[in-house]
Amino acid sequence: MAYSVLTENMCGIVAYTGNKPASPILIDGLRVLEYRGYDSAGIYVPGSGCYKAVGSVQDLVKALPGMLPGHAGIGHTRWATHGQPSTVNAHPHHDRAKAVWLVHNGIIENYTELRERLAREGHTFVSDTDTEVLAHLVGDAYERIHDLPAAVVEALALVDGTYGIAVMAEDMPDTIVTARFGSPIAIGIKEGEYIIASDAAPIVRHTRDVLYLKDGEYAVLSPEGYGVFSFKHEVLNRAPETVSYNIEDVQKGGHPHFMLKEILEIPTVLENTARGRIVMREGNAKLGGLTDAADILRETKCMIIVGCGSAYYAGMVGKLLIEDLTGIPVQVEVGSEFRNRPIVTKEGTTLVAVSQSGETADTLGSVREAKRRGIPTIGIVNVVGSTIARETDVGIYNHAGPEIGVASTKAFLSQLEVLALFALYLGRLRGLTQARGAEFAMEILRLPEKARTILSRREKIRRLAGEYLGYDDFLYIGRGYNLPTAYEGALKLKEVSYVHAEGYGAGEMKHGPIAMIDEVFPTVAIMPSDSTYAKMRSNVEEIRARNGPVIAVATEGNTAIQDLVDDVIYIPDTKECLTPILANIPLQLFAYYTGIMRGLNVDRPRNLAKSVTVE
Ligand code: GLU
Repeated sequence: MAYSVLTENMCGIVAYTGNKPASPILIDGLRVLEYRGYDSAGIYVPGSGCYKAVGSVQDLVKALPGMLPGHAGIGHTRWATHGQPSTVNAHPHHDRAKAVWLVHNGIIENYTELRERLAREGHTFVSDTDTEVLAHLVGDAYERIHDLPAAVVEALALVDGTYGIAVMAEDMPDTIVTARFGSPIAIGIKEGEYIIASDAAPIVRHTRDVLYLKDGEYAVLSPEGYGVFSFKHEVLNRAPETVSYNIEDVQKGGHPHFMLKEILEIPTVLENTARGRIVMREGNAKLGGLTDAADILRETKCMIIVGCGSAYYAGMVGKLLIEDLTGIPVQVEVGSEFRNRPIVTKEGTTLVAVSQSGETADTLGSVREAKRRGIPTIGIVNVVGSTIARETDVGIYNHAGPEIGVASTKAFLSQLEVLALFALYLGRLRGLTQARGAEFAMEILRLPEKARTILSRREKIRRLAGEYLGYDDFLYIGRGYNLPTAYEGALKLKEVSYVHAEGYGAGEMKHGPIAMIDEVFPTVAIMPSDSTYAKMRSNVEEIRARNGPVIAVATEGNTAIQDLVDDVIYIPDTKECLTPILANIPLQLFAYYTGIMRGLNVDRPRNLAKSVTVE
C-alpha cells in the first residue's frame, strides 16, 4: 500500500539523548504534542524507571517523583487505537525481560497473530495494545543478538502496519533507536544532543536543524553521534533541513488551518480505516470488534442507525449501503428525535450509533434507550474508550486519528468508509457472493488514490470559491447516494462560512425550493454519472431555465455537462454506492475556502463545540 507524506496524527512521541536531564525535556515536548490528541501519557528514563498516567501530561507530571536522574529517555502521549485508555495500556511498553522499552505511534495490523504466536512461546502480556507485541519482538531479538538497531529491524520485519517508534535498552542508557514506516519521525540535531519527536513542534525550541526520517529508515543516536540507515542497514547520507520557529505552523503541518490539514489527510485516513480490514480472497471485511455479534447480525431483521449532524448524514449513506448489499431494511434517526419519542421497534432490531467523539449526548441517550429495550447496539466511533464505545455491545473504530477542526471532515469520510466495510461484512454474512464482495472491496481500496486526485486539484476549487463569494444563499441538490452529500455539503458551508445553504433532494425541487431560484441563488448539483444522472440533469435544466447559476460535481470524462452548467468540479469514477466518499471532498474544500475568504476562523466556528455532550 502507498503512504502519503501526510499521516494522521495519532499520539506523539518524544525522545532525548544528550547532556541535559532528560525528563523535563520529555515532559515539555509531550506538552507541545498534546494538540495531537491524547488520552494518557508516559515516559521512561533508563535507570530511573517508567511513569505513566491516564489523562493529560499534567497528570503524568503529578505521577512523577520530581526530576528524574538520567540524560536520555523516551516519552509518549497516546491516542488509543488498540485497548482502552488506561495506565497499563499507556506507553512506553517493555519486553518480557524489561530490558527493552519503546514508544509507538501507529497501528500494528497483524498484532493478533503475533501475540498468539508469542503467547504459545510462553510470553505473557500486561496490556491490550498492539504496541506491546512489538516490544516483545524487539526484546526477543535483543536477547539473542545483543545489537539494538539490528534487533529493532529484525522485529519490524515481522510486523505489518504503520509505525514511528523510539526504542531504548536498559543496558545502553544513552542510545536511542528510532524507525519509521507510515508515521512521522523528526530528529532535531544539536552538537551531542538529539531530540526526536512526531513532528518538529517540540524540537524547534531546541534547534531548527531537523531531519525527517522516511519510510523504511531508522536512526541510531547517542551523545557520541548519529547515523541514518535503511532497513537493509545501508548507511544513508541525510542532511537536516532548517524549519520554521513557529510552533503553530509546525502543528498545522505547515498548513494555515487544521481544517485544511485534516482534509488533506483524507487519503491517509481512508487507508487507515480500511487497514487490515479487507480480506480480498474472501471478498469480505474483517471487523474484529464485531466478532461477538456475528450470530445476532446474521439474524437481524432491521436496523436503526442513529447519529447527529454529519454523523446522521453518514448514517443516511449507511442505510443505502446496507439495504443494497444485504436487503435488511434500515431506518436512520437523528439522536435528539430518537431518544425523545416512543419508538416502535420490531423483534430482531439492531441499533448502530455513529459518533466521532463517542460522547455525543443524544446519540449516547439513544444507545441507552435501545439497551433498556433489549436492542443490541453497535458503535461506530473514532475515539477509543469513549462512552459510546464502552456502552455499546460491540463496535468498529474509525482509526481516523484525532480531529481538531470543529466541523468534521476526515472523520466524516472515515464514517462513510466504515459503513461501507460494515455493509460488506453484513452482506457476506447474508448471501452476498464472494465475487461481488471482492469487487466492492477492491473499489474501497482504490478510494485513497482517487481522493488524492481530487485534492491535487484544490486550486481550482479555491478559485471557484472566490468567484462565488458574493452570493449569500446556496442550494445543494442530489439524489440517491448523494442526497446525503447535498445535506452534508450545505451543512459544511453553513458551519464554516455562515453562508445560508440548503440541502435538498433534487426530486423535491418542484415541490417548493425552485421558487427561490434566480440569478443570485446558485445551486451545487452533485451529479456523478450513475443511475440518478438523467434525472439530475433534468433538474439542472430546470434551474438553468430560471437563470440560477449551477456548479456541478460530476464524473471525470463527462464533458457534455460543461455546456449545461456554469462550473464543473470533477471527481474520479467509482461505484455508485461509494461516490459520496469522493463527492464530499470538493464540497469540504469549497466550504473551507469560502470560510477563509470571508475572514473566518474555520477551525473554530462561532457557537459550535467539537463534541456536543449536552442535549
Ligand atoms: N496503536 C497504539 C496504541 O493503541 C499506538 C496508538 C498511538 O499512536 O497513540 O497504543
